[in-house]
Formats: sequence, structure tokens, C-alpha cells
Amino acid sequence: MTTILQTDNLVKSYMIGKMEVPALRGVSLQIEQGEFVAIMGPSGCGKSTLLHLLGGLLSPTSGKILIDGEDLSKVSDAKRTDIRRRKIGFVFQRFNLFPTLTADGNLKLAEKIHSGNGGNSSGNRLEVLRLLKLEDKMHHKPLELSGGEQQRVALARAVINSPAIILADEPTGNLDTENSQIVLDMFRELNAKYGQTIIMITHNPEAAAVCSRTIKMRDGHIVEE
Ligand code: ADP
Repeated sequence: MTTILQTDNLVKSYMIGKMEVPALRGVSLQIEQGEFVAIMGPSGCGKSTLLHLLGGLLSPTSGKILIDGEDLSKVSDAKRTDIRRRKIGFVFQRFNLFPTLTADGNLKLAEKIHSGNGGNSSGNRLEVLRLLKLEDKMHHKPLELSGGEQQRVALARAVINSPAIILADEPTGNLDTENSQIVLDMFRELNAKYGQTIIMITHNPEAAAVCSRTIKMRDGHIVEE
């Protein structure tokens, strides 16, 4: 097995004025390629902070993060951005889709940001849209889509560039049961078909049940696997 993500005694505190707010108090974790991991725990325990650190969106106060063997603290900002762009796809609870672009336009933009050029591999876009059962919605703008469909477009956008790692922050948090199920099925299919490593924060035990591993956090620590 290949370790795709590793943290070593990861600590993160936020400063609010002169007050230090500890969010992570020493998290050591190893995730193998192809794992589908749920992160659970009460609100405020540090789940989002951990996910943002893993994705290189935040810097730790201390401790190490290795993505595919590369120590994020030892690379330049430019290299870190490059690793993030090439290896990681984010799915947030709020979909963050561009409202004026169609589903296909949102995907094109993601390709463009990724590759730095025109993003014209429409074949890949079509395959992803098909996989997420969105072919007949590709010319719709976000407001013309249901919540579940918007989340599927957000998921399509996260996977369009075939990242090795997908980080998802409560991807079913705003969805009803039926749409949650559809989105979870999609995650499972992506994980099974492409072996993408998925790390998903969730409060929903049914969502955690589709994962191959559950990490429970409390008060800035991992308390249970
Ligand atoms: P969770 O995702 O489990 O709800 P978070 O990682 O969002 O937890 O937050 C962990 C702790 O860090 C909480 O006490 C929260 O208030 C604090 N926190 C999170 N983000 C910030 C921030 N940008 N500035 C200050 N404190 C923050």
C-alpha cells in the first residue's frame, strides 16, 4: 500500500487578537491510497481545520504534513500551490459554483485553472458529467439545478482533473435524504472506479457507513478510529 497522506503531531492554533484559540492539538494520521475516510466529531473539534491543512489551504502552527511523500512545510509556496492543484479536489458544503456559468462552464473553468490553458478536453468533461448523471443538465446554470444536482456539479468539478485526493467538507450537509444518497453513491463509485482517496467530514452516520474507515475527533485530537 502507498501512503498518500500523512500528518505528524499536527498543531494548529488561531490567533484572535492576542488570544490563542487551539484547534488541533497534535494529530498524527496516515491515509493510504484508495481509502475512503469519514471524519466525525462534535462541532468545533477541529475537523475543518484538519481538512484545510491537509489540502494546503492553511499552514500548521507546528507539525508535519506529507502529501504523496512531499513535506508541505519544506516546499516553496509556488510548489505547494502546484501540489494542491495537481493532487487535490475540494468539495464544500456550499457548492461555490459560479452562478453565471452553466454546469459545463463551471467544469471548463476548473480545467482551465488546473492546466493554465483553454481547458478543451470536452471528452473528459462528458465522461464526468455522464458518471454523475448530469449529461442533460450540462447547459443549466446553478440556479436552474436542485441542491443535489448542484452538489453533483461541485463533485464533478472536484474530480474533473483526476486528483489523487478528494477532500469534502460535509458534502451532504445541505441535502435531503434522497440527494444525500445520490451524492454518496457517486463518491463510492469514484472511489471504487478510479481508486481516488476520499476524506469526508460528516455528521451523518449513514454517510460514514459507506466509508472504509471512520476517524473520530474531539477537542483537537483524534480519539477513536
Ligand atoms: P469543526 O470543523 O470540527 O466544527 P473547526 O476546525 O471549524 O471545527 O474549528 C476548531 C476550533 O477553531 C473552534 O474552536 C473554532 O472556533 C476555531 N476556529 C476555526 N476557524 C477559526 C478562525 N478562522 N479563526 C479563529 N478561530 C477559528
